Amino acid sequence: MSQHTQPVSAAEAPADAAERRAVKPVICYPNETLPKPDLDLYQAARSGAVKTGEVLVQPRDAACFTVPAGHFFRISSVEGSQVGDLNLWNLNDLSERFFSGKTRALHGTHVTRGERLWSSLPYLRPMATITEDTLGWYGIDSYGGSVHDVIGTRCDPYTGNLLSGDDYHYCCHSNLTRALADHLGIPLAEAEPHVHDVLNVFMCTGFTRDTGQYFMKASPVRPGDYLEFFAEIDLLGALSACPGGDCGSEHTSDTAPCHPLLVETFAPKEGALAGWEPPAQNGYDRSHGRG
Ligand SMILES: [Zn+2]
Repeated sequence: MSQHTQPVSAAEAPADAAERRAVKPVICYPNETLPKPDLDLYQAARSGAVKTGEVLVQPRDAACFTVPAGHFFRISSVEGSQVGDLNLWNLNDLSERFFSGKTRALHGTHVTRGERLWSSLPYLRPMATITEDTLGWYGIDSYGGSVHDVIGTRCDPYTGNLLSGDDYHYCCHSNLTRALADHLGIPLAEAEPHVHDVLNVFMCTGFTRDTGQYFMKASPVRPGDYLEFFAEIDLLGALSACPGGDCGSEHTSDTAPCHPLLVETFAPKEGALAGWEPPAQNGYDRSHGRG
């Protein structure tokens, strides 16, 4: 009998286990030194802004949109409670894209007004700043759940296949892949590697305290609620209306009732952002200890 067939036993706790567990945590990335967005300036610019366009994202599908640096975009719930999966790229260079892991490390598991969506290495700069969040009142509920998470990935057909053997084609990963391929006029296989972990807009999630598992619950979003962003750089966005609907029961299937999501873009008046400039790419010299 190989040792791999032996039952796995839990490691025995050492005599000082309680003492080791009692060590107090420290914040990994104290963020007081992060450059602060000038929310007053953004708000003043927004108040005189005019709408420049809109895209209605159909249920179980995705759509792309572009936002010039210094403009705003708003994602709204329309018709019914619905969760959206958002990807962002630098419009001029798709290798710079939203980095959900570092955004989580810098701001926490869920994001709201005043927090920013950061880009991938080696760029690591704010791509967008959240300027309005009508679900900002939600906070953290008694289950440890909150909204707009950067802890999930994006629902995808590969995980569905792994867990159930099914081939479901309208997961956010596939929706985003189709939308990007159509927008850029490239084959699906070329578009797919650009799709990345998302901001889960309106999704209510957390981790169970007993098993540490990722959980979701019906989103508190209602028609009229929105999340609004200031574009710090020229952006290409893609938003998927998740097949999970409000994500109160299941995703990766056609079971949940789904609704569209509205994306609108707004341009501030000429001169409204006086003194503002898009953030520079990260200042690290990239020598990595050599030269
Ligand atoms: Zn999804």
